[in-house]
Amino acid sequence: MFADVKPLPPDPILGLSKLFVDDPRERKIDLGVGVFRAADNTTPVLKAVKIAEQRLLERQATKAYAPPAGVPGFVEGAARLVFGEDSPVLRDGRSAGVQTPGGCGALRVGAEILRRLEAGTVYVGAPTWPNHAPLLTEAGLKLEMIPYYDAQARAIEFDGFIAAVEKLGPGDVLLVHGACHNPTGADLDRAQIDAIIETADRRGFLPFVDLAYHGFAAGLDDDAYIVREMARRLPELLVSYSCSKNFGLYRERTGALLIVGETGERAGAIQSHALNVARGMYSMPPAHGGSIVAEILQSPELEAKWRDELAHMRDTVKANRRLLARTAAEMQLGDALAYIEGQNGMFSLLPLSEKQVLAMREKHGVYMTGNARINLCGVNAGNVAHLCEAYRDVTQ
Ligand code: PMP
Repeated sequence: MFADVKPLPPDPILGLSKLFVDDPRERKIDLGVGVFRAADNTTPVLKAVKIAEQRLLERQATKAYAPPAGVPGFVEGAARLVFGEDSPVLRDGRSAGVQTPGGCGALRVGAEILRRLEAGTVYVGAPTWPNHAPLLTEAGLKLEMIPYYDAQARAIEFDGFIAAVEKLGPGDVLLVHGACHNPTGADLDRAQIDAIIETADRRGFLPFVDLAYHGFAAGLDDDAYIVREMARRLPELLVSYSCSKNFGLYRERTGALLIVGETGERAGAIQSHALNVARGMYSMPPAHGGSIVAEILQSPELEAKWRDELAHMRDTVKANRRLLARTAAEMQLGDALAYIEGQNGMFSLLPLSEKQVLAMREKHGVYMTGNARINLCGVNAGNVAHLCEAYRDVTQ
């Protein structure tokens, strides 16, 4: 069976990291892989996480299986962060959830449920995070791209987006990024979100919100606006939640699929399918990351510490955005990169062709993904001038 199988090419993003490591040039800059990095280029374990881990280590008495819906307190804690302290959805008991292996696990479990429900097509604005395609289509769903962002104009094409959304109907699914759009950094404003909700209400399609950078745009409450408004104004909603970035738990594979139904009974029925889907794929989620999050969210002192650390990560990325936009202006690039300052999260798209992306890498040692996505965490006072010079060289 294996004899004639040709190997697949390496993953382009992971391949990029290797090229960067092997590059001997001192002035090289890594704007590739999507993890948070501090000014010293490290991705440290958060202090709140370390303390929670120490407490767990002392207390843990068994490695027996965790419950299929996740470790106690995790889903409840995530739901409180997402829906809000005094959420009507929580008060009315209209939500349910399961812990999943990261946001990827939540997207995949959600996709499997949608296939069971014989959902029509999932629509998502282009460009989107490349992994959305396999996570959804390998579950058997159809995925269609609709307009979202114009890289040359450096702006959301909302007219095209909402015109496409207007054509969706019952049985269709709209996948939307909750905050900190990956790869563009361009988030919908509140008026645009309200217009989508009004359309969903009228047309009857199901929104599926992918919230993977909660707290990185404006804060935990502001970033959840889209989810809270949808939960308030629409009967049904799915949310894929990731704790990879905001708790820095990447390798612990910690996330949740949150379900809002018209009634608690309906949400519970979908939850039973989520558990059944998970049973057929991996049985139950890894416990450690969920236990850490539950430990933090059940201790006011640890939660305050974590909120401070999250705010610090958010401020770091914002400062890097400002640094790049302003240095570009000072270096006679005009307002070519001014848009970056107003965007959210770790990523932005540069308006560069594939050839220019290659020239950035080969000529200047500046590494970004092939679609010209940059991770702003890689920008600092020591390399920003070189980055702007390289940009000027490949574009002028
Ligand atoms: N959605 C988006 C848009 C993402 O960028 C990511 C992480 N790169 C995820 C979901 C999934 O994250 P994870 O599975 O690592 O929690």
